Amino acid sequence: MKFRNFPIYRIEWVTSAFLIGTALAALTVVPWFLWNHYSEDLGWGFIWALFIFYYYATGFGITLGYHRLFSHLSFKAKWPVKLFVLLFGAASFENSALDWSADHRIHHKHVDEDEDPYDISKGFFYAHIGWLLFRLKPKPPVTNVKDLEADALVMWQHRYVQWIGVVVGFVAPACLGWAYATLNHLPSPGTSALAAFLVAGLLRTVVVQQGTFCINSLCHMVGSQPYSTRHSARDSGSVALLTFGEGYHNYHHEFQHDYRNGVKPWQFDPTKWLIWTLSKLGLVTDLRKVPDARIFAAEMKEHSRALGIAVERAISGLDEKTRSLKARTITSLEGIVADLTSRAEALREAASEQAELASETVEDVRKIFRDAAEQLDSLRLDSAPSVA
Ligand SMILES: [Zn+2]
Ligand SMILES: [Zn+2]
Repeated sequence: MKFRNFPIYRIEWVTSAFLIGTALAALTVVPWFLWNHYSEDLGWGFIWALFIFYYYATGFGITLGYHRLFSHLSFKAKWPVKLFVLLFGAASFENSALDWSADHRIHHKHVDEDEDPYDISKGFFYAHIGWLLFRLKPKPPVTNVKDLEADALVMWQHRYVQWIGVVVGFVAPACLGWAYATLNHLPSPGTSALAAFLVAGLLRTVVVQQGTFCINSLCHMVGSQPYSTRHSARDSGSVALLTFGEGYHNYHHEFQHDYRNGVKPWQFDPTKWLIWTLSKLGLVTDLRKVPDARIFAAEMKEHSRALGIAVERAISGLDEKTRSLKARTITSLEGIVADLTSRAEALREAASEQAELASETVEDVRKIFRDAAEQLDSLRLDSAPSVA
């Protein structure tokens, strides 16, 4: 976008002032305050504990609450959980759960298209924060959250979201800092309150916002695509560390109603672990999971596609004579790709009837891939130019 084409008339002034103002303050005022007051006894241990609590509470407010519960209905929650994520979601200053979910549902429906509110094809900056600073098009009427509009708690938060945000996100940490200092007879409760506001309120808001904004930017740029290449979403363990487990975004876009984003047991997805733990405590129910067979079918289809491309490449590197010599291997490999693709399709259909995935099926398919890889290697080795 050329600067003279910058849509000044589309700037969201209040949102921009808040986002840029808090980010600048976190980079200037907070370090300045820490530099000048860190040696004072303000109850720093308590203040950093408050920072950590608020970091997780507001982060999960977005990932567990706004995202997996309200946008995708991937589980049901009892009112205490709903209230918690609505209060702390508001304190992350990312709009109301209703507005967030409306945008997010459009994102899934029109991913990578012009209607996608944080369309990654408009670049990293736009998908990360630009879409909040200025709207390229007028906001479409909200029609896709009727289910949430019927929820009294969600509508209460929607109505008072900025007030709730300020009270829970800024005023409460300051009050807690003051109360801690007073109860422990620290020298300056007022300065302790200011410290708690700057660290657990302001700095934490910026850190959580930048982390969760990465779900819209980095999650569509960094990582692999094991489940689908039909959209830009990617799986990345390192992005998962920054985003409370949302980094497994390729899986998420393929199976958006699954309460898990990191579907493999070893993947770092604290939001999934928390939902599972809450379900054991009876606070959330009806956790939605995609059958293993369907997940495996998607992986198999992507593997077969990649194998097909590798075979194509290997064949195109062969000269006419070697190609005719290798004709049987080539035919066999092409047969394997076709066989795997049709097996993946059959498995996907079987899974829709809730069929179980037999472990022999997994082992069979693994063996086919191993054999194919060996054949492919021999094709490549024989076609490599001789050094002698
Ligand atoms: Zn996405
Ligand atoms: Zn989503």
